Amino acid sequence: MRLANKVALITGASSGIGRESALLFAKEGAKIVAVDINVADGEETVKMIADSGGQATFVKADVSRAEDCEAMIAAAEDRYGALHVLFNNAGIMHSQDDNAETTEEDVWDLTMAINVKGVFFGCKYGIGALRRAGGGSIINTASFVSLLGAATPQIAYTASKGAVLSMTRELATIHARENIRVNALCPGPLRTELLMKFLNTEEKKQRRLVHIPMGRFGEAAEMAQSALFLASDEASYITGSTFSVDGGITAAYVTPE
Ligand code: NAD
Repeated sequence: MRLANKVALITGASSGIGRESALLFAKEGAKIVAVDINVADGEETVKMIADSGGQATFVKADVSRAEDCEAMIAAAEDRYGALHVLFNNAGIMHSQDDNAETTEEDVWDLTMAINVKGVFFGCKYGIGALRRAGGGSIINTASFVSLLGAATPQIAYTASKGAVLSMTRELATIHARENIRVNALCPGPLRTELLMKFLNTEEKKQRRLVHIPMGRFGEAAEMAQSALFLASDEASYITGSTFSVDGGITAAYVTPE
């Protein structure tokens, strides 16, 4: 098993990438601390893991709140004795997020609070725990939009993911000699609720699909496989990377018909 004897904390574990990663990491032997603001679905994730013979616990936390993040890290160490993998994955894409002229300040602030400050708080409290465990792996979910601009605007979201990517590089550099690896997972457009709510018409979906060489949206389970690799010792020489898992969208200038 690729994560035997490891403890992994995953934020946003009630849905999408976070849930799929929790299920997969547990299958690979990790004990899971599933974190989310959505209690019902988070407990469902934990139940799914338990039903398939894995070990997991749910912790309710709003990643934009410092005290919640401090408590989630403490819960991992209290419950399982250590923390080896920190997957800062929770994020939002606000439905009112648009271009610079039309996006309201509160939409900007909420997006930054969850997407950027949430990653910062995860690291602020989690790095000490990884150090106490002798090192570990941090994965921060950024996005392909941290590398490319889109004409379908989501200005706060895009800026937030740019911040996650640059924060990741600096964290990786600072902590490299402590055996703490930090990588940014950059998913392409996925067939998850988050994006499908935003691309809520067939026309908007097609407008996006035309740019993806593979001609389809990605699946949360495909992101989980990539996160598993970054979490595992197989990625022992990988830190500070922009780990794009995007159907080729960031490689393409013109895509096939
Ligand atoms: P999702 O909406 O299915 O899951 C996000 C989870 O985060 C939800 O369970 C939600 O309850 C939780 N969450 C939201 N705010 C929170 C908070 N303040 N504290 C704790 N938990 C909170 O979406 P997903 O597609 O699985 O997204 C996961 C990550 O992947 C996000 O960071 C997202 O920005 C990123 N991403 C998604 C796509 C895509 O196309 N879906 C593409 C690139 C990057």
